[in-house]
Amino acid sequence: MILLDNVTKAYPGDKEPALDSVSLHIAPNEFVFLVGKSGAGKSTLIKMITKEEIPDSGKIIVGGIDLDYVKKRHIPGYRRRLGVVFQDFKLLPRRTVYENVAFALEIAGMSGKEIRKTVPKVLELVDLLDQAKKFPDQLSGGQQQRVSIARSVARQPKILIADEPTANLDKLTTAEIIALLKKINDFGTTILVSTHDEEVVNNLQKRVVTLKGGKIVDDQKNNGIYKLDEAKVPHVKRTIQTPGHAIKRKVI
Ligand code: ADP
Repeated sequence: MILLDNVTKAYPGDKEPALDSVSLHIAPNEFVFLVGKSGAGKSTLIKMITKEEIPDSGKIIVGGIDLDYVKKRHIPGYRRRLGVVFQDFKLLPRRTVYENVAFALEIAGMSGKEIRKTVPKVLELVDLLDQAKKFPDQLSGGQQQRVSIARSVARQPKILIADEPTANLDKLTTAEIIALLKKINDFGTTILVSTHDEEVVNNLQKRVVTLKGGKIVDDQKNNGIYKLDEAKVPHVKRTIQTPGHAIKRKVI
């Protein structure tokens, strides 16, 4: 579903690449957490997939589309095939909850009739049907994020990408948002979420990919936990006593 093969990206002026020969395969219907310290390359990896940034080398294939062949003028159309959720929600402030979702569908070319059918269904999915007439500033952070998720999944994308979607939310609201992402994943959408939240990662027990200095240093396929450093190679110094003399051995 998502394939990165040997992807390297260095921003102009930076000494070290933001991504250094990254290879990653995410299968259909997987739920993957992307973790790593600030500056590890998480946002850059996500920008590679959304084609906000172009790699210096390597290949990226998303939903069967080779991104090398997505021309500039087709990038907005390509992005609309993905669901993308941001930490700062990016809602339209002068539009209601209903209109925020409807507008995204309108841009994607859906008919008025279809839009009127789809929006209530999606708002129900995120449990916001009763808030449809409110404006974003009349909602809590968690509700705003749910509108943003509703907007992203309204077109039923096969892939949902979320860059730190819970960074601005409290613990309880974070749990709600993650439960919603899990529900969307259970419906068959492949999900990639970058996060700093150790508790969220450890509770969900999904695949966890760890980035450090632009490299993937750990990839726990199942029941992953949050650990920012690669597993240390065991390095044990032991002294073995034998009769008569002692042999010092280093066991690696
Ligand atoms: P993360 O999302 O894990 O915090 P980023 O992908 O934002 O990491 O950043 C990875 C590295 O790339 C960092 O060293 C950062 O300073 C650098 N970087 C990110 N965006 C830019 C940019 N637009 N211009 C120059 N350097 C950048």
